[in-house]
Amino acid sequence: MKLICPECKNEVNLDNYPDLEKGQVIECDMCGITLVVNEIEGSDVKVEIIDEGK
Ligand SMILES: [Zn+2]
Repeated sequence: MKLICPECKNEVNLDNYPDLEKGQVIECDMCGITLVVNEIEGSDVKVEIIDEGK
């Protein structure tokens, strides 16, 4: 699975989230933003920003 952070455009490391599912909260390592999984389509993960971070 692959997720590009909508804020910093870096690929988010999903190794910490082996059981990724809809509604799961993910934090971007690069910019610290908090994201929630909206939809998983094949290997594409769609997220929404829920916290602009620090
Ligand atoms: Zn980011």
